[in-house]
Amino acid sequence: MDDLKMKINVGDLPEIICSCGNKFWLQAMTLRKLSKLLNPKGEDGVIPIPDMVCSKCGKSVYEIEEVEDDPNKPRLKLVK
Ligand SMILES: [Zn+2]
Repeated sequence: MDDLKMKINVGDLPEIICSCGNKFWLQAMTLRKLSKLLNPKGEDGVIPIPDMVCSKCGKSVYEIEEVEDDPNKPRLKLVK
């Protein structure tokens, strides 16, 4: 399959811009408590979930949604 060998130029891909206009993101984690009732090990635990947050306003990258009414001018809309 040639599709699997397709080379992607990262510079050609659209950047994700925060609703505040910032384009830099920091690695972050959200944590979920795991009850010992659900844990096979029978003890309370914590499950880390990877996230990215805006380095300027701290908004999660998953809280912004891309709006494409004009393909040449991609905009971002705040969901929450
Ligand atoms: Zn931001």
